[in-house]
Amino acid sequence: MTLRNYINGELVKPHSDKYLDNYDPSTGKVYSLIPDSDERDVVDATNAAKAAFPSWSATSKEKRSEVILKIVDLINRDFDKLVAAESKDNGKPIWLAEKVDIPRAASNLHFFATGILHFASEAHMMENRAINYTRRDPIGVVGCISPWNLPLYLFTWKIAPALATGNCVVAKPSEITPMTAYLLSELCVEAGLPKGVLNLVHGLGPKVGAAITEHPDIKAISFTGGTATGAQIARTAAPMFKKLSLELGGKNPNIIFEDCNYDKMLATTLASSFANQGQICLCGSRIFIQRGIYDRFKADFVAKVAKRKVSFPSDPEAKLGAVVSKPHMEKVLSYIDLAKEEGGTVLTGGHQVHLEGEYAQGYYLAPTIIEGLAFDCRTNQEEIFGPVVTITPFDTEEEVLLMANSTDYGLAATIWTENLTRAHRMANEIQMGIVWINCWLLRDLRTPFGGVKSSGVGREGGFEAFKFFTEAKNVCIEL
Ligand code: NDP
Repeated sequence: MTLRNYINGELVKPHSDKYLDNYDPSTGKVYSLIPDSDERDVVDATNAAKAAFPSWSATSKEKRSEVILKIVDLINRDFDKLVAAESKDNGKPIWLAEKVDIPRAASNLHFFATGILHFASEAHMMENRAINYTRRDPIGVVGCISPWNLPLYLFTWKIAPALATGNCVVAKPSEITPMTAYLLSELCVEAGLPKGVLNLVHGLGPKVGAAITEHPDIKAISFTGGTATGAQIARTAAPMFKKLSLELGGKNPNIIFEDCNYDKMLATTLASSFANQGQICLCGSRIFIQRGIYDRFKADFVAKVAKRKVSFPSDPEAKLGAVVSKPHMEKVLSYIDLAKEEGGTVLTGGHQVHLEGEYAQGYYLAPTIIEGLAFDCRTNQEEIFGPVVTITPFDTEEEVLLMANSTDYGLAATIWTENLTRAHRMANEIQMGIVWINCWLLRDLRTPFGGVKSSGVGREGGFEAFKFFTEAKNVCIEL
């Protein structure tokens, strides 16, 4: 299967007529070809978006909402096909794509298509002197660049608010997982999305992503991906005064106090550590356990993790599927070696898993728990983004806060305690954009989503996203 770019309403070949291999991580084999696009394709996409903007931005929000909701209907119609495609492209278990990725892609589009109908601008009265009202107008052409871990989920999370607010989009999914974005472009054609409103250019980050970032007519960039890539995008975009939303990496702490609801904590910690093979920016990779329950937690957690089945994505019993690529698997394994060099002890996992038959060359890793590391060693400071967690005991709130806040990252924290006052105190002190207390990844799409420090700039979600994708203009009328 050869994928096409989606430019000006049509599925087209790249200028280069060259293609990149797309691997199925569960088998390690190439199963489709991706356009190896370059700046010429980005220029075409931008021109199409510019041409479409006057009409799309002048289209009523009700009409824009209607077209986007049509796409939602088509996603729901093709649900099984998209689930299978996401699982094959990314390596994740089918049940996970069915439960999380594709339903969330549909709900992202649904949420922003209906949310726009409730997006009202502010008015500020100056007693009897004047009225200010704030217009929120679409920016124009915006760029959306998304990663491989939750491919359609994060792609739609960006394009939905951009389109709903009346912008035209030039988007690039990760070249590692382009399939569901391609299938979405087919659905956009079928739904009758006006040509040029959404354009999708496949290809490599340093070529296509960089061309989007550099194009002077693309006025805002919404990016989710690694911190190093985010910094590179900021270096290019900031001097051009582009609006930037950067959702970057994390090294999230999971803080467990002795007074937690133990069974709930244990079950949720299994998910927060290893869901999607640990490849979720919100996974808790540093687990801090108060000393009184450290030994009990260690025994129970290791026993449960050691039993988690690593298997091919269509195995309904697979708790973990394949990691996304060979280079990524090697990177994760290199961090396990580093952890050992730094004095860590691997309590379970720590190695590649070799399946048989057609899956023998797939990229499978055993879920891994490491203990005995200093909180400030590289393993505990750098993002691994795989099925690897460390466990560390602590005694006091002050001590765990120091360790939890010690990294450059500040995306999300999970705190387990039944003490309400402590929960609030910790939430106040922890340097993260998102804090979950006695839960994990419980999402309300209206809430601000994003990180502090090297985890990002700006917030997505709800009206935050609508504000990002619009320019505020204040109008003051003297009475
Ligand atoms: P990357 O930063 O490698 O890539 C993200 C996207 O940027 C891809 O589409 C990539 O293209 C593209 N890209 C790469 N280089 C450039 C460039 N020079 N200019 C513009 N675009 C470029 O991240 P990953 O795909 O590896 O994703 C994993 C990372 O994403 C992790 O760090 C994770 O924490 C983070 N993440 C953050 C989330 C958050 O909300 N904070 C959510 C999910 C993930 P290509 O794939 O072709 O290289």
